[in-house]
Amino acid sequence: MSKFVYMFDEGNSEMKELLGGKGANLAEMTRIGLPVPYGFTISTEVCNSYYDMGKSIPTEIEFQILDALHRLEEKTGKKFGDPVNPLLVSVRSGAVFSMPGMMDTVLNLGMNDETVKGMAKLTNNPRFAYDSYRRFIQMFSDVVLEIDGFYFEQFLEEIREQKGYSSDPEMTADDWQEVIKGYKDIVKKHARKDFPQNPKEQLFLSVHAVFDSWNNQRAIVYRRLQRIPGHLGTAVNIQSMVFGNMGNDSGTGVAFTRNPSSGERKLYGEYLINAQGEDVVAGIRTPKPISTLQDEMPEVYEQFVETYQLLEGHYRDMQDIEFTVERGKLFILQTRAGKRTAQAAIRIAVELVEEQVISKKEALLRVDPDQLNQLLHRRIDDSYERKPLAKGLPASPGAATGQVVFDADEAELLAKEGKQVILVRPETTPDDIHGMVAAQATVTSRGGMTSHAAVVARGMGKACICGCELLKIDLKTKQFKVGDVVVVNQGDMITVDGSTGEIMLGEIPMIEPQLSDEFQLLLTWADEERELGVRANADNPEDAKKALEFGAAGIGLCRTEHMFMDATRIPIVQEMILAETYGEREAALKKLLPMQQGDFEGIFEAMWGNPVTIRLLDPPLHEFLPDKEELLVEVTKLQMSDSDSDELKEKEQLLRKVRQLHEFNPMLGHRGCRLGMIHPEIYVMQAKAIFYAIANVKEKGIEVKPEIMIPLVGHVNELKEMRELVMKASLQVAAETGQQYDYSIGTMIEIPRAALTADQIAREADFFSFGTNDLTQTTFGYSRDDAEGKFLQSYIESKVLPENPFAILDQEGVGKLVEMGVKLGRQTKPGLKTGICGEHGGEKSSIQFCYDAGLDYVSCSPYRVPLARLAAAQATIKNKQEQETNELQAQI
Ligand code: PEP
Ligand code: MG
Repeated sequence: MSKFVYMFDEGNSEMKELLGGKGANLAEMTRIGLPVPYGFTISTEVCNSYYDMGKSIPTEIEFQILDALHRLEEKTGKKFGDPVNPLLVSVRSGAVFSMPGMMDTVLNLGMNDETVKGMAKLTNNPRFAYDSYRRFIQMFSDVVLEIDGFYFEQFLEEIREQKGYSSDPEMTADDWQEVIKGYKDIVKKHARKDFPQNPKEQLFLSVHAVFDSWNNQRAIVYRRLQRIPGHLGTAVNIQSMVFGNMGNDSGTGVAFTRNPSSGERKLYGEYLINAQGEDVVAGIRTPKPISTLQDEMPEVYEQFVETYQLLEGHYRDMQDIEFTVERGKLFILQTRAGKRTAQAAIRIAVELVEEQVISKKEALLRVDPDQLNQLLHRRIDDSYERKPLAKGLPASPGAATGQVVFDADEAELLAKEGKQVILVRPETTPDDIHGMVAAQATVTSRGGMTSHAAVVARGMGKACICGCELLKIDLKTKQFKVGDVVVVNQGDMITVDGSTGEIMLGEIPMIEPQLSDEFQLLLTWADEERELGVRANADNPEDAKKALEFGAAGIGLCRTEHMFMDATRIPIVQEMILAETYGEREAALKKLLPMQQGDFEGIFEAMWGNPVTIRLLDPPLHEFLPDKEELLVEVTKLQMSDSDSDELKEKEQLLRKVRQLHEFNPMLGHRGCRLGMIHPEIYVMQAKAIFYAIANVKEKGIEVKPEIMIPLVGHVNELKEMRELVMKASLQVAAETGQQYDYSIGTMIEIPRAALTADQIAREADFFSFGTNDLTQTTFGYSRDDAEGKFLQSYIESKVLPENPFAILDQEGVGKLVEMGVKLGRQTKPGLKTGICGEHGGEKSSIQFCYDAGLDYVSCSPYRVPLARLAAAQATIKNKQEQETNELQAQI
């Protein structure tokens, strides 16, 4: 029969899928000889069987669990339920991908009315034994019996008040026994049965609860956010307990082998003396920095330093280690690759290469392109004189401004209304995760750098300040005080700096991001590896400069309509649209031409000889006119006040034109090259502006590589006609200026018919650029604005669609058209240059797809260029690795 349960010394780090991340790690740590408390893992396969069997564990697997338990007893010399030398265990979830704090855990399992006495005797510390027992009852009741923790906390509070205590450490062993009695009554009342005394019953009930927690609300939300598939299931780890709360020679902590926020190579972490693990993570007591352990427990510290170096050497990456000291003896409970900010990820990867631990290729694969956004965010202007209200721990870098909100639901609500908010809480729990997603940043008054808020915010790349104890938060009145003087109410604006921990009142000026030296270096390694070009979408000289600074090799899309939207130009654009005669229209276009020409000159100069793809006008003309409803109101008002004014006549004419241009489906209406076909004079003006600009810039000695792009082509004849139009304009300008121009004419492929007939279209095109925004709209038949506002979210939640296809390229559908377009296009013109300029050009999985499909370049917003360079390098490396594996397999 198959094996479903593995002792820690039967597994290794390769068995992640079966044992979950935590289980595989515990096994690996045991294998390399670290002081890990012994135990066993129930595999992820059992989670699926559990659900298949209607939430029950098959008998054969139950036998394997009991057998493992027996072996654990033998190894530890302790016995489950033994009143003299009881074995106590922890029961923890452990998925394939880390889901911190999302699923359930039970500690101290095996305690009952008898074993508690044994523990009291063994440790000579009855207070500790009864405290552990009451913690167990509370945790088990919460996780397994689903009794709200509130009842227990309320009861404990009553006892504390009765006794006149202000905190738990004042409670005596007798007090805890009294609490335990009360706790058992609460269980009986709410669960309608006695608290289970049989440790095996406790164990099986807990295993069930852990499997159930795989599908709790917060785990589902987290999986959706992190794109973790639901079928993977969780493993369950059962491990003998060690105690950090056995007195002042015991303790517990969390440490990172390097700083997870900055990446600095220095042991970094915190611990609490005389405490259990959950006290650190829950952030209720603020822990001490790990450096003070050197003074408090020098021998343990030394052993810890040796252990962490061993661990980092073994795993060749920064580790996040949970440890416990039980009466002077160090135990490692867990280690995993530590979550880190983008800044830290880059610094650690680069330094590991310099330390000759990993190769450049490995370093490139170590940084998640998605994370880089964090670094490309704005930060507070250095020249601004800060007047911080308060300072907490700098838990996750970045600066943010928003209005204060004290509740996660409210944060979500306000964010949906388009408000920027900052979530302020005493501490956060996994139930606050949606609020953290919605907020710009999170601030807590309690907890350390490894508290829930800190870990989750770093994972999300959002700013976070923790342990800001100066803030006196009152959740009822919805305000916080700083000392007795400043009061900040819900809705007030604050600015936070997660890199310094400072909180400031009001909105503060921010500056543009710059790339660190390590980041630059990593990107040069990426450039050495990648085979895919990276360009930027930019339509003004500032963006063009930013794109160059971030390493773009050209502009892949310059949308000329943005140049029309300028407030000073809109009246002339409207003049052009409203023109009744050819002469009137020509006059308006004459005014626009030098403006456009100036725009192009600015961009050509900024790009210094790099290619610039200029797309001729795309949106329907009504987008440049006022809104119909608003205009109607204005006209009605004017009619009521003064029926004969010039303003009224003007507005009435405008309204007539707006009505005339109205379309039922503007997205599929008179736009793109259809504008050039019906109003060729507009495209002629644009083409001439480009050629005049080339002439002027070349005179200054600057090289120019223009690529003129025709949008929304669906039939080759459209492109043929527009191509002739552009060439004619070129000849006219050449005759006028006496110059010759090097340029190319290409098209966007953004209509399915264009992809399907790409062999014909390629006859008239020097290049193709896939407009996957429109190609996604037209392939799915969704109008993006309607879909995203109405049904797309629901489709994604109910898994009708795996992702938002406007953010992540739909490889099976839209992607097939891209592949077909490339293939057919190159049938006609071998080596035809192809790129992508839809938003997908800045998304890592889509970039991988573009590379696989044989595209020459991706084009994305300037701020995503560094991400695209890294993702393009990863695509090449992964592809080569795959090839090597395939060749190896073929040889075998
Ligand atoms: C596209 O459709 O992908 C594209 C880049 O054009 P736009 O978004 O301007 O329609
Ligand atoms: Mg488009």
